[in-house]
Amino acid sequence: MTAQTTTSATALDTLSESLLRLLDEHDPEVASLLADEAQRQADTIELIASENHVSPAVMHAMGSWMTNKYAEGYPGKRYYSGCVNYDRAEQLAIDRATKLFGCKFANVQPHSGANANLAVYFALLEPGDTLMSVVLSDGGHLTHGSPVSISGKWLKPVHYPLVYDESRADYGYIDYDAVEKLALQHKPKIILCGYSAYSRVIDFERFRAVADKVGALLVSDIAHIAGLCVGGAHPDPFPHSHIVTTTTHKTLRGPRGGLILTNDEELAKAINKAVFPGTQGGPLMHIITAKAVAFGEALKPEFKTYAKQIVANAKALAETLMSCGHHLLSNGTDNHLMLMDLRKFDPELTGKQAALWLESAGIIVNKNTVAQEERSPFQTSGIRIGSPAATTRGLKEDDMRRVGTFIDRVLKAKGDEAVINEVREEVRELCAQFPLPH
Ligand SMILES: *Cc1c(COP(=O)(O)O)cnc(C)c1O
Repeated sequence: MTAQTTTSATALDTLSESLLRLLDEHDPEVASLLADEAQRQADTIELIASENHVSPAVMHAMGSWMTNKYAEGYPGKRYYSGCVNYDRAEQLAIDRATKLFGCKFANVQPHSGANANLAVYFALLEPGDTLMSVVLSDGGHLTHGSPVSISGKWLKPVHYPLVYDESRADYGYIDYDAVEKLALQHKPKIILCGYSAYSRVIDFERFRAVADKVGALLVSDIAHIAGLCVGGAHPDPFPHSHIVTTTTHKTLRGPRGGLILTNDEELAKAINKAVFPGTQGGPLMHIITAKAVAFGEALKPEFKTYAKQIVANAKALAETLMSCGHHLLSNGTDNHLMLMDLRKFDPELTGKQAALWLESAGIIVNKNTVAQEERSPFQTSGIRIGSPAATTRGLKEDDMRRVGTFIDRVLKAKGDEAVINEVREEVRELCAQFPLPH
C-alpha cells in the first residue's frame, strides 16, 4: 500500500507532498508510516504541554543538505574544511537567539535540553557539588538531580518544596521562603528554577536575590516557557539569571534541540568548552539551521500574539475543567499548562488510565505525578494538559472550552465506550476545522 492510498488529503497537506511522493518511491514502508503519523497528528488534539507543531519552513530546514557535514568547533574555528555555509547558519542562529532573548552570548549546539543542562553542570560544577531544584515528582525535570540521571548520581541535589497546604492561597506554588531557608542551610553552587510541570509564573528576581545571598549561580531552565518569555507572556529570565537553558521545541516551536544563554563572557567561554568538546561531538547543523528559522519566526510580531493566545487558551481550558468539578494543582494556570489532580476526582483513577481513555477519544495528554505523589511515575495520580500545539493549529478560547467539555465527558464516563466514541467523532470534526501548519 502506498502513502497516497493510506491517508487522506488533510494529512498529505500537512507534510510536503513532494517529500512523501519521493519517499514513497524510494522507501514505501517509511513513507507509509510518515503519512500515518501526519494523519494521526491531523486527527487528534495534541495537549501534551511539551509538544508543538513546527512550521513547514522549520521542518524543511531540518531535512536539508545541512545534515551532510561535520562542523566540530564554532563559527570561524572549525576542524574541517568546507564549513563556510555552516558558519553562516550557526552565526545567524546565535545572532537571532541573543536578540530574541535579550542577552549577549548563546550556544546553539546542544542536541537537547538534557544536553544543555549537562554541559552547564560540566562547565560549573565538580562531582559532589550541591544543586538546588524541585524534585521530579513535584514538577521538576530528570536532569535536575533525579537519582536515575547523571545529575543525581554525580551531584548532590537538595530539593525545595511547593506549598502543599491547601488552605493557603499559594497552594501548589513554589515555596519561596523554603527556597531561601534551604539555600542558607545547604549553600548550593547552583540554584535551578524552571520546571516541566509547573503552571505558575516563576519569580526570577526572587530566586536571584536568594542566589546572591548564598553566592550561588542562578540557572533558569525555561525549556517549557521559552516561547512565552520571548513572546511577552511570561517575565524574562534575564537580567536575573546567570545562565538560561532551554529546549527549542516546546513553546518556542522550533526543531528538537537545546540552547544555552548568558550575559557573562567567562561563563560563555566555559559553556562553549563544556558543550564541545566537553559533552558533544559534531553539531547537528541541519537542526541548528532550523533553529535559526524558528528564532526568526519567534522574532516576528505574530509570535507575541501566539504566545498570548497560548496562555488565554490554557486559562479558558482550566476554567472549564474547574467549573466541571475537576481539581487543578494551584487552582489554575498562568502559563501554557495545568496539572489535573485526579485524587480528588476519583482516588481509584490513575493518570495512566485517564490518559488511555482520553487517547481513545483522540485527545492526547500525558500521565503526570502531582505534588506529594504516592503512585509510581508509570501510574501517577494526575494528568498534565497544555495548550501550545492546539494554539498553533488556531484553536481559540471557545474551542478550548469545548475541548474541556470533551475531557470532562470522557473522565466522567469512566471508560464507557459509547461516550468515548461519541467524543472521538466530535474531536475529528473539530480537528478538521484546524489543519496542521502547511
Ligand atoms: C523538556 C525539559 C528538558 C529536557 O529536554 P530534552 O530535549 O527532552 O532533553 C529539560 N528541562 C526541563 C525543565 C524540561 O521541561
